[in-house]
Amino acid sequence: MSGPTSWRCDECAAAVAADGGLLAFRTQPHAPYAAGGFRILHVSCREPDDAELATVRLEACLDRDGLSLLLGFLSAGPGRRPEPGLTVADVDEFVDLIRRLHVPFYEPARRRFGEPHVRRTMLRADRASPYQSPALRKLVQASG
Ligand SMILES: [Zn+2]
Repeated sequence: MSGPTSWRCDECAAAVAADGGLLAFRTQPHAPYAAGGFRILHVSCREPDDAELATVRLEACLDRDGLSLLLGFLSAGPGRRPEPGLTVADVDEFVDLIRRLHVPFYEPARRRFGEPHVRRTMLRADRASPYQSPALRKLVQASG
């Protein structure tokens, strides 16, 4: 199964495709230099004068190699020395980002997570199934 191909820009809310998108984030200026504030943006929605905003082409964050790149925010990997800055400020935010980029139907479904009946269903479910494609697809299709 291939991954998602369209996202909602976190700046303008219009659809953004892989070839016109960026992953933008910030890194703390002090130890532990954690990365955070992850956003998916159109290239054109990036604030051009914001020198502290780090960006990666969205295409580079997709598929298997993209997942491997993202995991590099958490761990240097076997065979490498520990490095500063290999951490994220908010693990829940980072997992949300990985699901947005890699789990089919997560991106459109996540807009509904705050709806009361959706929340009730998720609270009763096990930890994984609400975020797997079959449940997400059902949620997206139910929204019409
Ligand atoms: Zn935009």
